Amino acid sequence: MRIVVCVKQVPGSSEAKIDPETKRIVREGVKAVMNPFDAYALEEAVRIKERLGGEVIALTMGPPRADIALREAISVGADSGILLSDRAFGGSDTWATSYALSKAVRKIGGVDLVICGKQAIDGDTAQVGPGMAAHLGWAQATYVMAIPEVGEKEFLAKRMHEDGWDLCRIRFPAVLTVVKDINRPRVPTLKGRLAAQKVEIPTWTAQDVGAEADKIGLEGSPTRVVKAEPPAARNKATL
Ligand SMILES: Cc1cc2nc3c(=O)[nH]c(=O)nc-3n(C[C@H](O)[C@H](O)[C@H](O)COP(=O)(O)OP(=O)(O)OC[C@H]3O[C@@H](n4cnc5c(N)ncnc54)[C@H](O)[C@@H]3O)c2cc1C
Repeated sequence: MRIVVCVKQVPGSSEAKIDPETKRIVREGVKAVMNPFDAYALEEAVRIKERLGGEVIALTMGPPRADIALREAISVGADSGILLSDRAFGGSDTWATSYALSKAVRKIGGVDLVICGKQAIDGDTAQVGPGMAAHLGWAQATYVMAIPEVGEKEFLAKRMHEDGWDLCRIRFPAVLTVVKDINRPRVPTLKGRLAAQKVEIPTWTAQDVGAEADKIGLEGSPTRVVKAEPPAARNKATL
């Protein structure tokens, strides 16, 4: 079983600002952390590997410092990490991001399952997982709260709804997005953290994954951000 887990580095503070000119989040100078939902995706992938064997590959698209998120993934059980990083990816919207990530999955090859978090806490669209499934032409299940059964050719996914759940039988290869009810992520050990620092992380460019220039970056993105504002700050709670 070869599982790719998509992890995104997000601002670790609610003080991230939006650039009024570019309408993008200003990430420079803001502490970055792994998107919290991606920790659940990773944990589920590692549990499947522990049950059935195989390998878990963490994949991120971001600036060079996004390798920190991959090392974090390795410290809790991923076998390796791949950083998709190239100036040509800058300004990519969710369509272009999921296209680039799906090209990396194709390059990795032999992938049975891609697991993403439900959504990123900065962009918040929840579009990248389903976007990858569309680009890859694979089955997808979103808001997965449990994987009760995994066979050689198919698996069962329990999907959360506002008013209940459903159970889907899905054939590999597939893309899942998971909610935090699915498990309780393990905490990395000191040994795991130290070992992750030594792992070599390959960086793949747009050319390496065969991403077409007109499908990535700002120009390759069908979305145009007209206006973006941070939410109004809430008053501090008083007792
Ligand atoms: C016009 C436009 C320009 C933009 N320019 C930039 C830019 O220059 N720089 C920038 O950082 N953002 C930019 N963005 C934002 C960027 O498109 C989104 O952050 C990105 O597509 C992910 O969407 P999301 O944050 O809503 O993730 P969601 O769809 O909510 O994420 C769901 C899951 O998908 C996976 N995932 C999402 N993004 C990644 C990733 N990068 N790597 C690995 N896994 C991932 C994770 O598992 C995550 O839990 C731009 C957006 C637009 C519309």
